[in-house]
Order: sequence, then C-alpha cells, then structure tokens
Amino acid sequence: MDRRKFLQASAALVLSLKAAETPARSYARLTSLRPGAIRPEGWLGAWLNRQATELAIALPSICEPFLTAYWAGDEKPDPEGGGWWPWEQRAYWTDGALRCALVTGDEKLLAAACAPVEYTLRHAAPDGYLGPTALADPKADFSRWPHNVFFRALAAYADANNDASVVEAVRKHFLSDTTDYAGLHRNVTNVEGMVWAYERAGDARLLDMAERTWAGHLQHAAEEDQGDVDSARVFSNAPIHSHGVTYIEIAKLPAILYLATGRPEYLKFALTQQERIFNRYMLVSGVPSTSEYYQSITARDVHETCDIADHCWSWSYLLKATGDGIWADRIERACFNAGFGAIRKDWRGVQYFSGPNQMVASLTSSPIVYSNPNMMAYQPNPGGHTACCGGNVHRIFPNYAIHMWMKTANGLAAVLYGASTMKASVGGSDVEIVQTTDYPFDDRIEFTIHAKAPVRFALSLRIPGWCGAPGLRVNGRASAMPPVANGFATLTRTFRRGDRITLVLPMTTKTTHWPDGGIAIEHGPLVYSLPIRENWTTSVAAWCSNAEFPSWSAAAASPWNYGVMEGADVKVRRKPMTIDPWVDPPVVLSVTARRLPGWNLTTDPKDPTHTFTPPLPRLRGVEYATPLVAPREFIPPDARPAEVTPVPDAEQITLVPYGSTHLRVTVFPSVPRGGEIA
Ligand SMILES: [Zn+2]
Repeated sequence: MDRRKFLQASAALVLSLKAAETPARSYARLTSLRPGAIRPEGWLGAWLNRQATELAIALPSICEPFLTAYWAGDEKPDPEGGGWWPWEQRAYWTDGALRCALVTGDEKLLAAACAPVEYTLRHAAPDGYLGPTALADPKADFSRWPHNVFFRALAAYADANNDASVVEAVRKHFLSDTTDYAGLHRNVTNVEGMVWAYERAGDARLLDMAERTWAGHLQHAAEEDQGDVDSARVFSNAPIHSHGVTYIEIAKLPAILYLATGRPEYLKFALTQQERIFNRYMLVSGVPSTSEYYQSITARDVHETCDIADHCWSWSYLLKATGDGIWADRIERACFNAGFGAIRKDWRGVQYFSGPNQMVASLTSSPIVYSNPNMMAYQPNPGGHTACCGGNVHRIFPNYAIHMWMKTANGLAAVLYGASTMKASVGGSDVEIVQTTDYPFDDRIEFTIHAKAPVRFALSLRIPGWCGAPGLRVNGRASAMPPVANGFATLTRTFRRGDRITLVLPMTTKTTHWPDGGIAIEHGPLVYSLPIRENWTTSVAAWCSNAEFPSWSAAAASPWNYGVMEGADVKVRRKPMTIDPWVDPPVVLSVTARRLPGWNLTTDPKDPTHTFTPPLPRLRGVEYATPLVAPREFIPPDARPAEVTPVPDAEQITLVPYGSTHLRVTVFPSVPRGGEIA
C-alpha cells in the first residue's frame, strides 16, 4: 500500500482503538533517569545555575524569535526562513531551558519554559495534532522538523513528572497525522518522538510507524538534503555530504530503533554512520568540523554550536544502545572542550561558530564563506536571523547533567562525572548517591551511598579510554579494580549506609598531530590551549543583543604566534581547587615554544578592518603532507600560509584548559628539534 494511504487508513482506525498502556520492552543497556533525579553540585552546579539565571532566562526578552510566543499561541511564520524557523529555534530554547530548570530546580526558569509546553498540550486539535496551525499542513517541507525539536521538551516534561497524559497526547498526535514523514528532509527525525511514545505507551502502531518511516526515508536517502545516509554510501565509508545537524539528527535514528526492537542491523547501521564522522571530521575539541556542512580539519576549521548540542545528544543514544563507555568519553570530551569553549564564562554570550584556534572573535571575523561575518563574536543570539545556536546551546550542559547516571539491568552506572546528588530506586530500595569531586580538575571521585537498609546492586563506574591505570578504594581501603568491560568497571556488593567508594582516574598528557604540521596537547579529558588575553568591545544590534546583554567582540591583547617544540616535555602544574575552575584553572601545563614572527592574523584585502584566524604557517625547510580532507574555501579566499622561521630562543608557555578560554591557540605549528630549521 502507498505509504500515505496506509497512514490515512490507519489514522481512521486509530483513535477508536484502546491504546496499550504497558511500557514496551527495551533493549537498552543503559537507561536514563528522569530529569531532575540528579542534582548537579560543585562547579557543574554553579555553571548550570549561571546558565539558568543569565542567558537562559534572559533570552526571551532580548530578541526575536525568542520574544514571540511561538508554541504558545503566536502564529507568525518567518517569510525568509521558509516559515518554520522560529518554531525550531524557540523549541531548542524551550527544551534546553526546561532541562536546565529541571536539573537546577530554578523555579523562574521552570515557569518560563513550561509555558509553551503547557500551552501546546492544552491546545491539541480535535484530531490530536499538537502544535501551531501554521505548521499543520502535512505536505510542506520541514513541516514536522520543529515538532521533533519541541517534542524533546514534551518528553523531558513528561518524564520529569511521570505524566502519562503527555505520552497519550503525543501518541494521538502521531497516530492521527497524515504527514509523509519519510519523504521530506528532516521530517524523518520524528522517529525519535514516535519511539519515545511507543516505549512508554506500548502501542505497537507507533513502533510500526517509526520503522516504516525509517525504511521509507532510506528510499530517498540518496537524494540531496536527505542526510546522505544511503546504505551504499554508509557502508562504503563515503565522505559525508550533508549539513551537520541534518546528518547527526538522522544518524541517531537507527540507534533509537535498535533500542525498541533489538534488531542488530539497526545498531550496525547506526555505528557505521558514526564511524564516518570519526574517520574524517573530528576536531581536537571533540566535535566534528561542521560549518555548516562537514568540512576539513585544518587549524581554521570550526563547529556550529548546534553541532555540539546535537552530536552529544545523538551519542547519548549510542551510549544507551551499546552500553559502551566510549560514547560517554566522547560526550565528556565535547562538553568539556568545545562546549565550554563556545560560551562566555559569565553565560552572557555564545558563539555560532567556534573552533580550536580563534585568535580573534569579532563581528567581522567569521571565515565561513556563506555565513554572516559576525558569527564568531560572543552574542546572546549569535546567529541573528539564523537563531538556532542561541536556543540550542542551552541543551548542552543540562543534558550532560541528566546523563551523569543511568540504570543498568541490575544496578546503576556512573556515566559522566561531576559533583552531584542522585536519587534512584535500585534493588527494591530508594538509594541516594552523593558524588564528591573536582573532576576533571582532580582525578579523585568519591561516591557515598545512602540507603535506609543494606541493598545489593551492581555499581558500574566508567573508566575513560584515556585512563590506563584506574584505582579503587572501598571505605578508604585499596581494593582490586574489577575487570573493565565495555568501558565500565562493575562492583557488585551489598552497600550499607555511608559506604564510600573512591575512584581514582590518573590523567596523563598526550600529544596529537593535525594537518599542516599541527600539534595539540591534552591531559586526561581536557584539551589545553594558549590563552590569549582579550580586549573586549561591546555593541548592540536588535536582532541579536540588547543594552543589558550586548554583543561581545574579542581582539588579542597578548602574543599568540608560538610554535611548540616537537617532543618537548610537558609539565603539569597544580594549585588548590578554585571557586570557578573555568575562569581560574587549578591545573595548567607548561611547554617549550618558540615565537614565529610573521605569523599574523589574516586580513581581507577588500576591507583591512576584517581580520581572521590564520592558517598554520609553513616553517621554512619543513616538508608538509596533504591533509586527509582537502581544505575548503575560507574568507579571504586567497589567504596563503605565512612562511616563517622561529626565533632562536625558546621559552616556556603556559597552557590552560581549552574550555576556560575565549581566544586561544590549540593547534600549534610543530617546530622540529635540532638543526632542521634555518
Ligand atoms: Zn545552530
């Protein structure tokens, strides 16, 4: 039967049939706790509280589309963006702000974020359709993509409150809808909402709809703008010819279908789609080069902030499907480096594009050909009219906090580390686990278990891939580390009130190599950068900022043109934990470097006031290999690498965590040792 006819026929039957109400079987190795079960503390709690009280609550009073009550009664389609943009963008904010409020307990933000959610639930159409009437047309391109974004907020709202009425509303919405989800761009992403409702309501028609939607999408997958997920291209490890957000939002869908069906072919497809990203596009920051399409990995390449939020979200499904800690390693790396590195540490400005190297971040410094030149400045809504990142940035850290703990078949898993208190039911008892740590600024993580009576369960602790020699103590005594399987060490025992489990994850220093002779240094989960002192200037533009929350431009006020000596010792220097480790880092590195005179900002010959982060220079006398992915075109189009000779005298430079910087050099020119350099 034709897919649309099938849906219409099933929709006619659907609402008269009684829904199953038993949750469906899940094939997840790891299962999320309800949002709000984990309360972040320490620096993580302070950071999320700052998000809640600064940009998250302020954004709806700064600029469009956040000023308008999209999803709460306002019906003003955007004529420039094809109509649907403002609903997508305000949905990103709604989801992020709601999750931020749920993890912090911030009542004011909770009320603001719940308003569009509750309006939408109260205004379901008679047939069950949820959402703006302006998007109700089932045949329009992208007509259902904003729903997928918004339904994640509905999911958080329902899961936090254990509210079956929301599940029922979403079930009715999908089963009455005649949209061809398979055929139009990102509409297919609604598989996520279909499966979410299936898992909770147990209505097999939702799973059937989700599987048919994915199968139907694969029929279109070779067409342009469908995410480049044609199976022949996926399994031949072809380069990804897709917008980053489109690809990553679609690439997670087979992992979601695996969670609901256990069919290994879905998981294989999902993992192979991810391999295409990790084989070619990863920047040292932990997020792929995505401006806005997957791009080269040179020292000028950047990521869109939406891609930080969306890759982490996608990887959380791979984590649940495989139970493999490598996905948590990847989320951690992306959040601690790319995530912090794109946000002002006072939570008053965000970049649309950010990257490992940014020696200038101004209203005229974006090197991306088709972007607005201001997209690397720190602004409340850095994309202006393209307001996705201004909303989406709010999802990054709340989702980190929500995913810190997960349930396993017979216990609990500490998946992402950070000071927190978690409450869950395990082994038939209510358990509270307090996690005390300054991680990643300290390698020691202590878990204190509180339960009314002794309770037996399996406590799984993630052992990051970068850690070769983890240690364990139980109530202060050294204990044998259980074998590490799938990235976790599992301790099965009867826990008594006040039991203390101490995990130690010693961090080592590692050097990685990048195209054009680039070299970068990391220590544990943190990538390190040369911090550049900022000369900040502010301005106001109605489409992205206001007087209270202006746009921030940063120019370099300290030297940055250093090359790092190949093979140089990296010294680690520590001081006691600070109040705000992302502003005053307690762990810094020291490395030998040489200045490279002539390595300067790139200037646009058409307008010398426009300056850009430069390509890595070429050291005279050194041979350079061709990069894995050919560099794309930047602004200005004919910028040539500088030809430089290092100064004779070496000096020690201090590197700080990438995430603690606003301007930085992370990928350095590598300076060979010895007499090779003229
Ligand atoms: Zn974006």
